[in-house]
Amino acid sequence: MPGERAKQRLIVVSNRLPYVFKRGENGRWLTERGAGGLVSALLPVLRDRGGSWIGWPGTADGSSDLEAAVTAAGGEVGFALKAVTLDAREVHEFYHGFANEIIWPLFHDLQSLCNFEPAYWRTYKEVTRKFAEAVLAVSGGDDFIWVHDYHLMNVAAELRALGYRSRIGFFLHIPFPSPDIFFNLPWRSALLHALSQYDLVGFQTLRDRRNFIQCLRSVMEEVAIQGKGQVVSLTVNGRTVRVGNFPISIDYDAFVRQAGTDEVAQRAQELHRLLPRRNLILGVDRLDYTKGIPLRLLAFKAALERYPELRERISLIQVVVPSRVDIPQYHDLKMKIEQLVGEINGGFVRPGGWVPVWYEYGSLRRKDLLAYYRAADIALITPLKDGMNLVAKEYCACSIEEECVLILSEFAGAAAQLQNGALLVNPYDIEGVADMLHRAFTMSDEERRARMRRMRRSIRETDIFWWVDSFLRAAIAKDLSAFPQPADHATEAVPDYVPI
Ligand code: UDP
Repeated sequence: MPGERAKQRLIVVSNRLPYVFKRGENGRWLTERGAGGLVSALLPVLRDRGGSWIGWPGTADGSSDLEAAVTAAGGEVGFALKAVTLDAREVHEFYHGFANEIIWPLFHDLQSLCNFEPAYWRTYKEVTRKFAEAVLAVSGGDDFIWVHDYHLMNVAAELRALGYRSRIGFFLHIPFPSPDIFFNLPWRSALLHALSQYDLVGFQTLRDRRNFIQCLRSVMEEVAIQGKGQVVSLTVNGRTVRVGNFPISIDYDAFVRQAGTDEVAQRAQELHRLLPRRNLILGVDRLDYTKGIPLRLLAFKAALERYPELRERISLIQVVVPSRVDIPQYHDLKMKIEQLVGEINGGFVRPGGWVPVWYEYGSLRRKDLLAYYRAADIALITPLKDGMNLVAKEYCACSIEEECVLILSEFAGAAAQLQNGALLVNPYDIEGVADMLHRAFTMSDEERRARMRRMRRSIRETDIFWWVDSFLRAAIAKDLSAFPQPADHATEAVPDYVPI
C-alpha cells in the first residue's frame, strides 16, 4: 500500500498558497510564509513527498510578473506552486464574503455574526470553478486531489461538472456544526450535495463527523452507513463517500528538538529572570472572535480578584497574531482586547513592580514562540469553538520538563484527544476558568507531570505524519476494517468530551 501511494502524485488545493506575496518598495515581489495551522501542518509533508500546491497568492494584484514570482517561490520551497488569481470583487465576495462572513461564523456556532448575502454564494461558485479549472490544468487525471477547508467545499462539484472522474479528498479544518445551526444556511442542500461529490471527507473530530452525517440524513433521500470505525462508508443517493475523523497534529519531534536547543532554553530563562518568582501563563492566538480572548482576560481578572494570593505570583503573556485586519469586526476586537488589558493592568499594577498582563500584538519569530512555550508554566487556551487548536499541541510538545499545565476549552477539537491530561473549561464560564487557573497554580508537580506525560504521548503517537498517512490511506484502502475500530480507536474509545 505505501508503494501505491508513493506512485500517485499529490495535488494539494487550498485557498491560500503557503506563501503570501507582497510588492516590496522596489516593485519586486516579496514572499512571506503565511500564518495558521494548515501551512504549519502541510509544508514539511509536501517537502518530504513532493507534489504541487494550488492556491490564491493572497493579493488582488493581477500583474503578469506574479505568476513568475509564484513559480520561483515553488523552486525555493521544494515543490510546484500554482496560483489562482482573484480580482478585487472576487476577493471581497468569495473570501471576505462567503468564506469569512458566512461559513466561518456559522461553522463556529456564531450564526448571529453571519451576513447571508446572496451575491456571495454566486461568487463562491464562480471562484471554486476557477480552482477546479486550475486542477484540470495541472492534473494528469490519475492524481490524488486533496482539497482543504471551508473556502473550497464546492471544488469537487465543479470538477465533476467538468467531467473529472478521479479520486478527490476533502479535509475540513474547522468544526462542522450541528443540524440546527447548519440549516440556517440558505444554500444548505447545494453545499451538502457538493460535499457528497468527494470520495473521502475528513473531519477533525467524531462530533464534527456525526453532525455532517446527521445533516446529510436530514436532506438526502437515501443515506446508508457501512462500518463503525475511524472511517465509514456512506452511500448517498447511490454514490459512495467515505467519511472519517482525523485530528490534525504537529511535527512533534521537530518541536521537541527545537525547543530543546540552548538558544531557546536561554530565552526561556531570560523570561523568568525578567518576570521573577511567578508562574507564567501563556495565551497565543490569531486575532479572531472565535478564540475567546476578551472572556479569557476577564477570567484572568476574576482569578486575581477571587484569589488574592495569586497577585504578584502570576503573569499572563497574551500574544495576538494579526489576522484579517481589514475586516471592521476584527479591528473592533483588537480595540476591545487592548482596552481590557489596560483596565486589568491599571487596576492591579504596583509602582515599579508586577505587571499582570504582558500583551504582545504581532507575529512571533519561531524561536521566540518556542521560548514562550518552554517558559510558560500554564497555557490558557480558551476558544469559544475551534477546529483543533495546534497551539495546544505545540505547547505540550515543547513542555520538555513535563511540569506544565494545559487549561483547554472543551469546545476546541483538541479537547477530545487531550481530555485525559488537560484541565477542560467552558470558556463562557468566567468564574469557572478563574477557579481552574487557581487549581493549575496549586497543582502538585506529580500531577502536572502525570497529566503532561499522557498528553505528550498521545500527540507523539498521532503526529502530523500520522495524520497525512491516515487520510491518504483512507482514500485508497480497499478494506476499511484495517482502520481503528471502536474497541481500539482512541477517539472512539474515549468519546468526545461531554460536559457534565
Ligand atoms: N503561529 C504563527 N505565528 C505566531 C504565533 C503562532 O505562525 O506568531 C502558529 C502556531 O505555531 C500554530 C498556528 O499559528 O501552528 C495557529 O494554529 P491554531 O490551530 O492554533 O489556530 P488557527 O490560527 O489555525 O485558527
